[in-house]
Amino acid sequence: MSDVLAVAEHRQGALREVSYQLLTAARGLADALGGDVHVAVIGGDTDTFADQVNRRGVDVIHTVADGDEFNHDVYVQAVEQLYEAVDPAVVVTPNSVNGLDYAPAVARGLDCPIVTNLVDAAVDEGTLIATREQYGSKVEVDLEVDGFPCLLTLREGEWESAPTGGDADVRAAEVAIDESAVGSTVTGFEAVAAGDVDISEADFLVSVGRGIEEEENLELVEELCEVTGATLSSSRPIVDSGWLPANRQVGQSGKTVTPDVYLAIGISGAVQHLAGMKGSETIIAVNTDPDAPIFDVADYGIVGDLFDVVPELIDAFE
Ligand code: FAD
Repeated sequence: MSDVLAVAEHRQGALREVSYQLLTAARGLADALGGDVHVAVIGGDTDTFADQVNRRGVDVIHTVADGDEFNHDVYVQAVEQLYEAVDPAVVVTPNSVNGLDYAPAVARGLDCPIVTNLVDAAVDEGTLIATREQYGSKVEVDLEVDGFPCLLTLREGEWESAPTGGDADVRAAEVAIDESAVGSTVTGFEAVAAGDVDISEADFLVSVGRGIEEEENLELVEELCEVTGATLSSSRPIVDSGWLPANRQVGQSGKTVTPDVYLAIGISGAVQHLAGMKGSETIIAVNTDPDAPIFDVADYGIVGDLFDVVPELIDAFE
């Protein structure tokens, strides 16, 4: 028992980015335990998804063709049966709405420990150390997990996407789903708010904070979004003020985002905000305060007044 089983995640026909991050975490744990990385691809276009997670440092891919979308009962049965077949030391899933839906049920079924919302995981002299954040992300806590096997749900954006390499053995898993025990069906998707967007899927986010001062000043950053093709997001005070809807909020009590570019305008960089965006590929910050904590995570920083800088950016992009 030294292998790691990662359960990939897809939605509406696309593999989610967090799946590649799971592979990095799984590889690290498997190397420390001296085992292999197995990946489960359950439902949807399993051939395409298997191909997408292949050549990413993975040893074996198990496909389970059953339905188009995530289904609680199918996932619980499939993961439990794959667990019996693979006998892994650790099962990793995303700490997503889906992951938190089935992983605890699997842990209960297998009677093994589960640790949720991890920001790191390592093996130290044979003991699994699971790292979580507590007290509003102000404190990191290392938990010694009480033996193997165990389930871990991993927070999106905390691991890099797995690098390319290797060639996995792709197998159609011998999993028998008891359809009579499947109690729900996905009948469709409804957007959170009509005409609105999912900021966690955006490649380029322009995020605005309290430095914007007034609701009517949002027009300025909206114009920047228009000329750059970026999606608008924000820190919590903007949502608390009712200037943007809740689904635009980045952070611990908002969404976790991992865009290619995150441009933070008038955002100080409180730990609760950083928790939601520090996994972004390139972070750019505009702030009048050179000591603002956002500059600690920024790749590029402009110390300046947003009311001078943003119009210049708009001009430059136009
Ligand atoms: P501020 O901290 O007020 O920062 C404004 C920044 O703008 C300052 O750095 C200032 O220097 C700069 N500025 C001012 N004027 C200008 C100008 N003209 N040009 C350029 N820069 C300027 N926050 C989140 O964002 N997301 C969350 O999910 C979240 N969850 C939370 C959960 C809990 C349990 C708690 C306790 C708090 C949470 N918060 C969250 C709130 C968080 O602690 C901060 O209060 C918040 O992130 C601050 O938002 P801000 O950076 O926009 O505002």
